[in-house]
Amino acid sequence: MRTPYITIDTYKIEQNTRAIVNQCKKYGIQVAGVTKGTLGMVEVAQAMIRGGINWIGESRLDNIERLRKSNIHTPILLMRSPHMSEIERIISLADVSLNSEYEIIKALSKASLSKGLIHKIIIMVDLGDLREGVWPNELLPLVKELITMKGIEIIGLGTNLTDLNGTIPTYENNKQLVDLAEEIEEKCKIELQYLSAGNSSSLKLLASGKIPKRINHFRIGEGILLGRETIGREAWPGTSQDAFTLYAEIIEKKLKPSLPVGEIGQDAFGNIPGIEDKGMMTRAILNIGRQDTNIDGIMPKHSNIEILGATSDHLLMDLTKNQSLKLGDTVAFDLNYGALLASMTSPFINKVVL
Ligand SMILES: *Cc1c(COP(=O)(O)O)cnc(C)c1O
Repeated sequence: MRTPYITIDTYKIEQNTRAIVNQCKKYGIQVAGVTKGTLGMVEVAQAMIRGGINWIGESRLDNIERLRKSNIHTPILLMRSPHMSEIERIISLADVSLNSEYEIIKALSKASLSKGLIHKIIIMVDLGDLREGVWPNELLPLVKELITMKGIEIIGLGTNLTDLNGTIPTYENNKQLVDLAEEIEEKCKIELQYLSAGNSSSLKLLASGKIPKRINHFRIGEGILLGRETIGREAWPGTSQDAFTLYAEIIEKKLKPSLPVGEIGQDAFGNIPGIEDKGMMTRAILNIGRQDTNIDGIMPKHSNIEILGATSDHLLMDLTKNQSLKLGDTVAFDLNYGALLASMTSPFINKVVL
């Protein structure tokens, strides 16, 4: 096998999806399976579909295009707010987009009208995490301007918490979304079919039974891919945390001092290394580096080996306590979401679907 590589266990992804979809179903919540952490991998989307999702969430048009070309007909939700420079493409690739800007929605409307289409939108409301969304007091005026607009249909409201600033989903902020929806329904005489409140950070609140009744849609990435909720990163019941494993190969193994020799200046990334003297050390170099993944987000599966550092193409490990690993062996790593995202995006990491 060409190294480095990442294995993608589609059966585990399917099982993880099923566990989360079934739990959400109990509370009347539909799930969009979010594939963006895997570069919109077709096999991952298919595993999620087998596991019961009824929407796919993707943030990149190229990924959506690939999914469409692979005959995936599940409705696709564009997760990142649309950009003006590709409005036409957005309309033809995504069934639904998440929006917060009047000018963009107007452009979507114009483009879909000219094609005889109706583009569905979910309006994002910022409930405090300060990423995308209209501020609550701007929601009603915006919707009032949109209800007469042709070529678009407002199918719901959404919010995204925790992602940027860690604002935790609570009954109160979810209820605020419900209240805003009800105010709009009453004042604008429209029906909002979907209230899309959560990402993986809402799973704990869901399990505690504290999601207000009208919330009926979640967009779940990490929970499915890595089997974790994202407030405390606890393993989610009924899911595996190792659907993805990263492997790199030992290309040098030598007994060397733990302390560098000579006068010490900045390393390749401008940092001055602070290194503890541990005497002589069995040091290995693996053929993976910062150009391939987020080194801070990978954890060796062997508990008795340790990452010492990395440069663009090299990962240094301490093998002093595990002498059985030899030159040419591969070392396996678990990944966090950031490392998964980077690994799946790297052209240098071979993708192996199990
Ligand atoms: C990425 C993303 C999600 C999925 O988040 P997870 O924490 O991976 O579940 C949900 N909603 C939006 C808008 C996103 O961009």
